[in-house]
Amino acid sequence: FSAPKSSGASGIINPPFDVNIIRQDFPILKERVNGKQLVWLDNAATTQKPKQVIDRISYFYEHENSNIHRAAHELAARATDAYEGARKKVQNFLNAASVNEIVFVRGATEAINLVAKSWGEQNLQAGDEIIVSHLEHHANIVPWQQLASKKNLKIRVIPVDDDGQLIIEEYTKLLGPKTKLVSFTQVSNALGTVTPAEQIVRLGHLAGAKVLVDGAQSVSHMPVDVQALDADWFVFSGHKVFAPTGIGVLYGKEDLLNETQPWQGGGNMIVDVTFEHTQYHNAPARFEAGTGNIADAVGLGAAIDYVSRIGMEKISTYEHYLLIYATQLLKEVPGLRLIGTAANKASVLSFVLEGYKTEEVGHELNKQGIAVRSGHHCAQPILRRFGVESTVRPSLAFYNTCAEVDLLVETLHRLKK
Ligand code: PLP
Repeated sequence: FSAPKSSGASGIINPPFDVNIIRQDFPILKERVNGKQLVWLDNAATTQKPKQVIDRISYFYEHENSNIHRAAHELAARATDAYEGARKKVQNFLNAASVNEIVFVRGATEAINLVAKSWGEQNLQAGDEIIVSHLEHHANIVPWQQLASKKNLKIRVIPVDDDGQLIIEEYTKLLGPKTKLVSFTQVSNALGTVTPAEQIVRLGHLAGAKVLVDGAQSVSHMPVDVQALDADWFVFSGHKVFAPTGIGVLYGKEDLLNETQPWQGGGNMIVDVTFEHTQYHNAPARFEAGTGNIADAVGLGAAIDYVSRIGMEKISTYEHYLLIYATQLLKEVPGLRLIGTAANKASVLSFVLEGYKTEEVGHELNKQGIAVRSGHHCAQPILRRFGVESTVRPSLAFYNTCAEVDLLVETLHRLKK
């Protein structure tokens, strides 16, 4: 990789893959918006889907559609194979020790709620403490708050420094015998900070706590190895990793999952039911009551195949370059304040522009076909830590190019004139 300089197709000298070939896989990237070519820089909200994923879901409905597990017929076998095959792909993607550790859920939000409403309800007592970080998405705050008010628990918060990185020294001071759970994000959706996740997990375990890692913003940008990370739970949403909405994953250590009582009851999750007593399956089925999102789980499997073929290391390297390139150019826009300047970041650029409301910037960019998020990004505490209620947030994926970044930056320069 050479220093950021040129623009052009990808703008990157010696890129790890040909971004123009990759872009051909994403039909929506050819879309025109307000008469302009779409520039999708809202990847932290959701990612676009390659044709391979779209086709796989169509194939499922054309050739395999059935409920799973319950029937003896051919299509039930095909659907079950496809669904369980997707689970296996997730296991490999995360390097989980067992396929039984992969529970399909609706998304990261549902996964965190599942842990709060099952493990949390069953194991936490009045006076116990939960540690979250200042970087968290509301999905990793609100479920713990609900649990805390129900059970009289205390929530403590790891602070961040002025660059938006967690202060580990302060974290160690929060840990103590009352700490029963640490729940934190691997990558901040509002600032892009990559947290020292392995260290945070290790310190949490040394204090005797269980640890949950929110991987909603990490899995699409870097290789994740849950065994190396050693977290007790790891959660992510399919739609942020080029898969459909409505499907996500809760990874949990197998023994822990099996020790935890299910949060929802119904079909699929039982071994035997009488009016007096129900015996539950082991994980993952014990947490998958009712008919799940079968087709989209299969779509998630296809998305994992897709990114794995490119290689998460290569994706991470390419995006890192693009992030540095965009950061350098944004810093040159007069009156632009970047929020989140940690040394270790992924994908997200958050800023405010002097003289403009964030929604005005979003609106002006939209006129040029550039999609960014402006708002609080469901992470109000961290924005307030930096004295703002809202930012403009371009966020990158491996199909973005330096040329797209150039267009973003040119539009901002024009606005400032
Ligand atoms: N955690 C983080 C860090 C996120 O960025 C998001 C979504 O933006 C979530 C959790 C919630 O994800 P979902 O809305 O897909 O459940």
